[in-house]
Amino acid sequence: MAILRGDLPDLGKDRDRTYRLGIMGGTFDPIHNGHLVCAECAFDALGLDMVVFMPAGSPAFKQDKRVSSGEDRYAMTLLATSDNPHFIASRFEVDRAGVTYTADTLQLLRKIYPDNVDFYFITGADAIAEVVAWRDADKVAELAHLVGATRPGYDLAHAETAIERSPYKFDVTYLEVPALAISSSYLRGRVREGKSLRYLTPDPVTGYIHKHQLYGARASRYGAGEGSFGVLAGEGRTDGQA
Ligand code: NAP
Repeated sequence: MAILRGDLPDLGKDRDRTYRLGIMGGTFDPIHNGHLVCAECAFDALGLDMVVFMPAGSPAFKQDKRVSSGEDRYAMTLLATSDNPHFIASRFEVDRAGVTYTADTLQLLRKIYPDNVDFYFITGADAIAEVVAWRDADKVAELAHLVGATRPGYDLAHAETAIERSPYKFDVTYLEVPALAISSSYLRGRVREGKSLRYLTPDPVTGYIHKHQLYGARASRYGAGEGSFGVLAGEGRTDGQA
C-alpha cells in the first residue's frame, strides 16, 4: 500500500467503492496488547481497509498530567504495529503544534482524503462518553463514525445516555474487547514495581521502555532477573507519567 501525505495510507483511488479508514486515537502511554487486539477486532467487525494508530499529540484533556513525550509514544506505537500489514503508526498528531483536538484532526483528514473514504474513530468507551463535551463535538459527529471499545462488564449506561442526550447525531458502535482488561496505567505500575511486561505488550515496546528509562525503568538492568525486566522501582527517568 502506498503512503500518502507523510505516513498516512493512500486510500480512495477506486471511485466505484467506499473505503473505511480506522483511526485508533489514544495517548498510548504505553501502547499494549489490549490496544492491538482492539484495533484488530474493529478491523474485522467493521470491515476496515486500514487502521491508523494516531498517538495524541498534546492531549487536550491531559494538560495537567504528566505524559511521556510524543516521540516516545509514537516510537512505541511504531514498534508495536510494524508487523501488521493493515496497521500504520502515524505522526499526524504528534507533529502538530499546540493542543491536539480530535475535531481538528478529522477536519484535516477530510481535506486529505476523497469523499469515498469514511472515517471510523476508535477509542476507549470512557473517552466516547466524554465526546459530547469535546471541542467542536458537532464536527466530530459529522466527520466520523465512532467506535467505543469496552472491557467485559463495562457499564455502557453513562456513555449511551451522554450520546443520546447530545444535540448532535453521533454514530457509535460499541465493541467488547476482553483484552482491554490490560491498561496503560497497569503496565506503568508493573514497570515501577520491576515486574515483567511479557505478553502484555510486544517485546520491542518493553525494550524501548527500558532503553529510554520510561516509567521508572532502569536500562542497565533490562533482561536481568527471572520474571522481571530488571527494573528498580522508583529509579530512572522521571519525565514519563508515573
Ligand atoms: P483516556 O481518557 O486516557 O482513556 C480512556 C480509556 O480508554 C482508558 O481506559 C484507556 O485505556 C482507553 N483507551 C484509550 N484509547 C484507546 C483505544 N484507542 N482503544 C481502546 N481503548 C483505549 O483517553 P485518551 O487515550 O487520552 O484519548 C482517547 C482519544 O480521544 C485520543 O485520540 C484523544 O486525542 C481523544 N480525545 C479528544 C479530546 C478533544 O478533542 N477535546 C478530548 C479527549 C480525548 P489505556 O489507558 O490503556 O489506553
